[in-house]
Amino acid sequence: MSNVDSNPTETLCASAAPGGAVAELFPAREVPLGGVRGISVQRVLPQRALPTVGAWCFFDQFGPQRDDMRVLPHPHTGLQTVTWPLIGEIRHRDSLGSDVLIRPGQLNLMTAGPGIAHSEFSIGDKPMQHGLQLWVALPSGTVIPTFEQHTELPLYENGGLRATIIIGSLDGATSPATAHTPIVGAQLDIARGSVSAIPVRPDFEYAILVITGNIAVAGAPLAAGPLLYLGTGRTELAISASEDARAILLGGEPFPDELVMWWNFVARSHEEIVKARDDWESGSQRFGIVDGHGSDRIPAPPIPAVRLTPRRRR
Ligand code: MN
Repeated sequence: MSNVDSNPTETLCASAAPGGAVAELFPAREVPLGGVRGISVQRVLPQRALPTVGAWCFFDQFGPQRDDMRVLPHPHTGLQTVTWPLIGEIRHRDSLGSDVLIRPGQLNLMTAGPGIAHSEFSIGDKPMQHGLQLWVALPSGTVIPTFEQHTELPLYENGGLRATIIIGSLDGATSPATAHTPIVGAQLDIARGSVSAIPVRPDFEYAILVITGNIAVAGAPLAAGPLLYLGTGRTELAISASEDARAILLGGEPFPDELVMWWNFVARSHEEIVKARDDWESGSQRFGIVDGHGSDRIPAPPIPAVRLTPRRRR
């Protein structure tokens, strides 16, 4: 997906020393696509006071809704896109020549490096009507754009909770997806009545978003909507559910670099953002061509007139 915000502001994501185990709720923000279709997404990352969780720097939930998703070619830099359908199928095409369909339980992972372009379209009789898009910030110097599709991901089970490991590792279960920093992302399917204690890394920070149902995390109730940030310093996560539930667990080593995020770009400076935008608008070879769309593409929004000052995390 593209960042559908029609008027994105520049976000400087200042790194900060995390403060140990916490339990803080960060509400989702509704971001309208604009135009006549009225599609919106629920965004839980980045947040003003929580720009990243590990290297996770962006987390949008699309749907559930009846409209198809049709996202024309658009660019990315400095990040990996994680596309995770929950209901329906989606076709991905990119400037490396990839052209694939994915279904729920499968992962599309696109590593932008200095530049890549892609399109994503719900297709056929099972269009994607509910799905997740996340971005993982790349360390400086990650230069090779790649695309991976993983149709088989490892499962991890603990006390009635079944985790599908999307990227990284959880208690020894490791996804085949390429990670560039110590990280984890997992879908948690939690059976009614389950009680689990998942061993986790105290050097990682973690956060959980409930997709459906109600759960309890470290003793506190959590419903769908907000992101629960859990901080660092934990050695296990106690998760229980009184009804069937699904959630997404994110974690990783706190990301050390200051990031500047704007539209579909992750960079280290305002100048890098301006250059990436100029290169997309001029049709530079940096981003390549996504076949099959003719001259259709998403134009970059205007760069904000005001250069934002750094925001400290907490
Ligand atoms: Mn995209």
